[in-house]
Amino acid sequence: MSAQLIDGKAFAATVREKVATQVEKLKEVHGITPGLAVVLVGEDPASEVYVRNKGKQTLECGMTSYEHKLPAETSEEDLLVLIEALNADPAVHGILVQLPLPDHLDSDLVINAIDPAKDVDGFHISNVGLLATGQKAMVPCTPLGCLMMLRDHYGSLSGLNAVVVGRSNIVGKPMAQLLLRDSCTVTIAHSRTKDIAEVCRGADILVAAVGRPEMIPGDWVKPGATVIDVGINRIERDGKRKLVGDVDFASAVEVAGAITPVPGGVGPMTIACLLANTLTACCRAHDLPEPSDLTV
Ligand code: NAP
Repeated sequence: MSAQLIDGKAFAATVREKVATQVEKLKEVHGITPGLAVVLVGEDPASEVYVRNKGKQTLECGMTSYEHKLPAETSEEDLLVLIEALNADPAVHGILVQLPLPDHLDSDLVINAIDPAKDVDGFHISNVGLLATGQKAMVPCTPLGCLMMLRDHYGSLSGLNAVVVGRSNIVGKPMAQLLLRDSCTVTIAHSRTKDIAEVCRGADILVAAVGRPEMIPGDWVKPGATVIDVGINRIERDGKRKLVGDVDFASAVEVAGAITPVPGGVGPMTIACLLANTLTACCRAHDLPEPSDLTV
């Protein structure tokens, strides 16, 4: 059996289309243009690519993009002054500080300085608490994208066994919260989990967010399960540079019922969900109804 491919690239295009349609309506009916500010400190090449893509896609959806590129040696005080200004700016509905920050800056302090209503990454401690208690939150983009694809695939996730491998604050934990919220029975596995292969074999939904190239082989996958591979790992094979996930795709595709490829799976959904979150934040700021199908 060969699994159905969950095409994140195509799915992300439909999300961006929905965002663009609803942005156009916001402009027409209410004269409001959602704005997203992205702050990049330093010159990390991968972060520069992400920020460029975010800016481009923000504009393509009809929103305003504000880019703040600061030198690597920027002081915490100066960064906090900028965040304060963005918090106070009514044209800015979403603020994203690109991580990782240079070592001398305290990421938790900086993220928690963002107005939670504008925290489109969903990393502010208030949003973490709101999500954990089942209240209206800004939801981290990568897990939100995974949830959208799972809901699309299954309709209802109620009663399914979900295993999330990885317990980071940006992927593993919020992913588990979202699955729990959709009434899955959720297990979080991590580096100290005993007999992790057996734990994974119990999953109807297996989400891999580890950061270890092809760590999860096909014989950890329950036949017919849905595999969501969040991992993005750059490796060299046969003298060529390659992107691979945390799942060994070649063996897993033979066992799973459905699987996201890398690249072209979860990755494109992350930026699409950032745009969706910016629209959501804008609607909430103006007391307008939540955009449909774009949030939880
Ligand atoms: P992270 O903060 O490094 O967390 C990795 C998690 O994996 C940790 O909880 C760790 O467990 C667990 N782990 C490590 N080795 C393990 C092992 N041998 N067995 C079981 N669990 C193990 O990583 P992250 O930020 O969550 O990112 C995970 C992956 O997703 C990375 O490849 C990253 O590039 C990718 N990612 C992709 C997107 C996207 O848009 N597609 C977005 C974000 C991240 P402990 O806590 O016990 O150490």
